Formats: sequence, C-alpha cells, structure tokens
Amino acid sequence: MKITHVEGIILRLPVRQAVADGTQDDLLIRIETDEGIVGYGEVDTSPEVGKAVIDAEMSHGTCYGLREILIGQDPFDIEQIWQLMYRKTNYYGRLGVVMHAMSGVDMALWDILGKAVGKPVHKMLGGSYCSDVRAYASMLMPESASEVREVVSRYVREGFTAVKLGYGPLGSDVSRDIELAAVAKETAGRDVEVMIDIGHGYTLKMAMQAAREFEDIGIYWMEEPFPPEAIEDYQRLADSTALRIAAGEQDVGRWTFRRLIWEAHLDIVQPDISRVGGLTEAKRIAYMAHEANRVCVPHAFRTGVLVASCLHLIAAIPNSAFLEFSVTDSALRRELLTEPFKVVKGRVAVPTEPGLGIEINPDTVKSYSLRK
Ligand SMILES: [Mg+2]
Repeated sequence: MKITHVEGIILRLPVRQAVADGTQDDLLIRIETDEGIVGYGEVDTSPEVGKAVIDAEMSHGTCYGLREILIGQDPFDIEQIWQLMYRKTNYYGRLGVVMHAMSGVDMALWDILGKAVGKPVHKMLGGSYCSDVRAYASMLMPESASEVREVVSRYVREGFTAVKLGYGPLGSDVSRDIELAAVAKETAGRDVEVMIDIGHGYTLKMAMQAAREFEDIGIYWMEEPFPPEAIEDYQRLADSTALRIAAGEQDVGRWTFRRLIWEAHLDIVQPDISRVGGLTEAKRIAYMAHEANRVCVPHAFRTGVLVASCLHLIAAIPNSAFLEFSVTDSALRRELLTEPFKVVKGRVAVPTEPGLGIEINPDTVKSYSLRK
C-alpha cells in the first residue's frame, strides 16, 4: 500500500473567543492511499502554522514539508515514517509545531492500518485492557461558588463520576482557589472525584499551601500549578505532598516526558496525542510512565477524533485511569463525527470498528472548511 495524498484541512467556526476551548477551529489531517483507504487525524496547534508544515516545499535535507516525506511511503512502515518525519524536519522542527503536525499524520496512519486489517487501533497498539473508560467532565472553572455548585451538580446528575475544573479565576489567589475547590468537592460528594487545573498561575509556595488544603478536602489531582519549564518546582512540590500532581499537556516528545517523570516526579503525565507526536509517541511515553509506576491520562480538548485516539491508547496501556471528556459545547465538537461519543453512566465505550472507529461528517467539513 502507498500513500498518495496528504491534506491539512482547516475548519473554523464563524465566531471565536480567546478562551481555551479547543474546538473553535481545527486542523484535520486526511491521508489517502492507492488502495482507496482514507485515514483521519487531528492536530491541536495553530491551524495555519500546522498546515504550513504539511504543505512546505523542501528547502534542504533537514527542512522538508511532511507531504513530500509521506507520498509514496507504505503506511505499514509507521515507525520508520515517524523517524523520517522527525529527521527530515530537524532544523525547523523537533519539539514544537512540526511534532504537532506529525501527531495528526501519525493518528491518520494508525486509522489507515486499522482499516486495512479490519481491526480497531487499540488491538494493534497492544490490546484491550478495557472496553470502556471512566470519563471526567472537563470544563473551565466558573467565577463564583454558586456557579461551581451549579455546574458540578449538573454533570454529576448526568452520570459523571469525576469532574475537572480549570483556568478561569484559578491561579492568582490561593484562598479563593481553595474555597472554589472545596465547594466543588462538597457538591460532588465522596464518590465523585474532583480535579483542579491551576493553569500555571502558582509560585512554589502558593502551590504548597494549596496542596495541603486540597489534600484535606479530598481533591484527586492538582494540574499544572507551574509553567512546563519549572521542573525543579514540580519536583519540590511533588516530593512535599501526598496530593497527586499532574502535567504534560504542553509538552511534546518523549525526551521532555522523561524529565517530567524522572526529574519533576509527576504522579500523572498528560500527553496530548494531537501534539505530543501521535499515538506512536504517546504509547512510548505511557510505557515510560509505567516503568516508573506512574499513571498516564492523555490530555484532550479537541473533537471526537482526538477522543477516539485517547480511547484506543487508554485501552492498550496498563496504566491509565480516566478519559478527559470536554463538556464545552461547540458545533465542531457536536457535528464533526457522524456519531459523537456518548457518556453512559460516566463511562465512554472504546470504539470497536476498524481503525479509529469513527466517521467524519462530510457536511460538517464542508460547512466549516476554509478551502471551499
Ligand atoms: Mg490542563
């Protein structure tokens, strides 16, 4: 089988806001083969910049565009293709947007492989540790205690057994953060886990203070109290508390995750499959975490394409705990797949159809594509 066509399709809603909702736009990767099999992937990056990485003309031996590298390759050579993409973009790529674009390509290649052999991706990645995954409702932290009560009780009523609240007002006033976290946990109750995503706002001492209280309240994890570069702060925090510390969504490549695991002492690593280097790299990272007895909970704030990839990875590894399930409403999240993922009693079923097990709705692509 040979790759014959590679395309980056930018989708964009007519109205956007500067909030951290990953589905106001999208970079969808579509790869065709000479056997008529088509694979899809998704990239979480600046869509125009990611698309340029696909489309770029070769400048010299370490400055290729991804399409040029991919055309004519056999998608079953998936590891070799990964190395080729990494090596042939080395001067302008490595641990940034090129890896983001590679992630979407890698996802699409796994989709093709699964469709070619008639197996869901998780069966090819390692097997089925589970057939459904406990989902956590992921949302922005509201401004007031009463709104926190309202949103947490809504998602508990819908059957979620875990909720994560992040960003918004968090990260500047520790006392207020503790108050909001306490309201969330009190509303959720003993059997529903609450995670708090600080969104980089803390100094080390602020994080230590919050961690002490979060532990008492019964918060499940504290996410990204610091910027991703603050490895020493992460280490000192993680070593000082029994509260789980989670991070990794901003990072790409296994080399950074090696530091997050062995130097930052994170309890939970959160590679984003649409940025970190695709399913191929995410699996390497998950197993690196497994060797260190740590947990891998992939980050996901895009559409159902990324949700599907997360479900396949989680099913194929021994050390995951949750699926991140964004509950922010958007047309792309609702309409990009012909059958959007459903949460039933707080869990989402791992797809069993060949490949990623999803179907892209062509009408949605047409409606929001910039290429029309
Ligand atoms: Mg986060």
